[in-house]
Amino acid sequence: MNDGRPLREAAVDLSAIAENVARLVRAAGTPHAMAVVKADGYGHGAAPAARAALEGGADWLGVADLAEGLALREAGIGAPVLAWLHDPDADFRPAIEAGIDIGVSTLDQLEAVADADAAGPPAVQLKVETGLSRNGLSPADWPAAFERAALLERAGLLRVRGIFSHLSNASPEDDAAALDSFRTALTLAADAGLEPQLRHLASTAAAIRRPETRFDLVRLGIGAYGLSPFGDASAGELGLRPAMTLRSRVAAVREIDAGAGVSYDYTWRAEAPTRLALVPLGYADGVPRAASGRAEVQIGGRRHPVRGRIAMDQLVVDVGESAVSVGDQVVLFGDPASGCPGADDWADWAGTINYEIVTRIGPRVQRTYS
Ligand SMILES: *Cc1c(COP(=O)(O)O)cnc(C)c1O
Repeated sequence: MNDGRPLREAAVDLSAIAENVARLVRAAGTPHAMAVVKADGYGHGAAPAARAALEGGADWLGVADLAEGLALREAGIGAPVLAWLHDPDADFRPAIEAGIDIGVSTLDQLEAVADADAAGPPAVQLKVETGLSRNGLSPADWPAAFERAALLERAGLLRVRGIFSHLSNASPEDDAAALDSFRTALTLAADAGLEPQLRHLASTAAAIRRPETRFDLVRLGIGAYGLSPFGDASAGELGLRPAMTLRSRVAAVREIDAGAGVSYDYTWRAEAPTRLALVPLGYADGVPRAASGRAEVQIGGRRHPVRGRIAMDQLVVDVGESAVSVGDQVVLFGDPASGCPGADDWADWAGTINYEIVTRIGPRVQRTYS
């Protein structure tokens, strides 16, 4: 009955990733496109997701940590990679020698890259802070940083391949202000003698809705995995197909009487006799406990409510009169086009965003690929 499938499975459809990337790349029309595969490819598996995205037309890969970039190289992926968030004591040398572009957000990082003494010239992409108040060179530091970068470039100690920033998606006005700020950075960089080939600002949301932010490259994260970055448009409406299906199998079925409590704290009691299916997935597997009392799952082509608290290892589904047996497949989320809940539904039930639903799938859940 189980077809040899793992009990806890995040099944990833790699053709969905390739097709999503192809669609987004075509729509953006930029000369370059970066697939963002940080956080283990948003939980989908960084290396398989990266290969699928490259097949779909991405020509760059983006990660947060140097270690994530090096792991791509160890997996045999030779495509251009940019890493942008660093340990304050980072040793850039192994990454430089692996041909990974270093995203530089501070003057200290610029010096550390120039001093890395790596075999081969480091390529950096300067990250400028344009409103998120997070990572990036502050506007006050731009003139000095650009002058210094140009000097180091002329000295042959590094090459400035790119300049980039990130949008808040807070509102069109806020993004327009960030875009203005980014243009100012580009002008100052040019004044300092820098000629970065890759100017980039847009992630999935702006790649879809803000053509003026696309420049030379768009960075595609959530959209590549077939999920929408927007509250007001579903993946399906954007022509994207969710790549991940989280599924398991019914581990036990029991009948309960009216008045029986279910799971910790008895937050739900049966009003009438019913049948319950036990599903061996819990919050340790990334199923959000906050969705208790709201969530639904799909068993045998039908949706059924989750009852009581979602526990660490298991959750309980009220299947009523439906013909549900031990071993039946349970879909927690997947492509809603097939009638199952989507990652967006879980995000709503848990008061979070779809990004968090897929990236938090835990280590007991086996990723499988088709
Ligand atoms: C995570 C990240 C992205 C991807 O954003 P999505 O909304 O998932 O497309 C792009 N750029 C940077 C700098 C990021 O940190």
